[in-house]
Amino acid sequence: MQEKIEVLGVPFDNVTMNEAATRVSQFVASPEVHTVFTPNPEIIMLAKKNEKLFAILKKASLVVPDGIGVVIASKIRKGGILKERVAGYDLVQNTMKQAAGKGYKYYFLGSKPGVAKEAAKQMAITYPGIQIVGTHDGYFKPEETFDIIEDINKSKANILLVALGAPKQEIWIDENKHLLKHVKVLIGVGGSLDVMAGVAKRAPLLFQKTGLEWFYRLMKQPTRITRMMVLPQFLIEVMLNKEEKK
Ligand code: UDP
Repeated sequence: MQEKIEVLGVPFDNVTMNEAATRVSQFVASPEVHTVFTPNPEIIMLAKKNEKLFAILKKASLVVPDGIGVVIASKIRKGGILKERVAGYDLVQNTMKQAAGKGYKYYFLGSKPGVAKEAAKQMAITYPGIQIVGTHDGYFKPEETFDIIEDINKSKANILLVALGAPKQEIWIDENKHLLKHVKVLIGVGGSLDVMAGVAKRAPLLFQKTGLEWFYRLMKQPTRITRMMVLPQFLIEVMLNKEEKK
C-alpha cells in the first residue's frame, strides 16, 4: 500500500516523479478506470470549503503535490514529509516521453477553442509517434457532455487529460468517468494544455528548481495576486493543524 501523507485532510501519495509516472503506466494497463489529481495550496484551500471536491480527492487513485507550498506544508506538520513536488504538467510530459511504444492514446479536453488542437500538434512534434486521438475545447454547455463522451469513446482513447480548471475538472472527471469505454486514466491538468500549445509559458528551470515558480508567475501576471493570497492563509492553517496525523 502506497504511503499517504495528509495535508489539511487531503491525502497525498508520497511518490517521486518517476514513481508517479510508473503508477500512471500501471493504471493504463489495468482493467479499471483511475483518477489522478495534482492539488496545489489553492485547491487544498478550496477543498476545505467544497465538500464535493474534498470527497473526490479522498477517493482518487493518485494525488500528487503540484506546488512547492504543499511540500513545505508536509515539513511543517508531523507525520511524514513528501518526497518532492510532482507538477501535473511534468507528470504528463513524463508519460508522453514513453508513450510511443506503450500504446497510450491521449484525448485532450479543455482550454479555450483551438488550444487543445494546437497542444496536440505541438506534442506530436515533441514526441514523434505519440497518439493523440482526439481533442475538444473546455467551453461547452452541460448538455453537450453526452456528445463529447461519445467522441472520446469513438476515439478509443485510454488517457484523458481534463483541463477545465479546479474544481470544474475534478467534478467533471468524477461525474463522467464511468461513462468512458476505453479510458483507464483521467488526469486533471489545469492550465497544462495552454503550456503545451505555447499559449502560456512555464517559469525558467531555475525558478522551478528553487521552488520559486509561483513568484515568476506572479511577476508575469500580477493579477494572480488575489489567487495567491491564499498561500499565506494555507501555511497558517497548516501551522494551526500541526498535529494532524496520517
Ligand atoms: N477552462 C476551461 N473551461 C472552463 C474554465 C477554464 O477549459 O470553463 C480552462 C482554461 O482555459 C485554462 C484551464 O481551464 O486552460 C485552467 O487554467 P488555470 O490556470 O486556472 O489552471 P491552474 O493550472 O492554475 O490550476
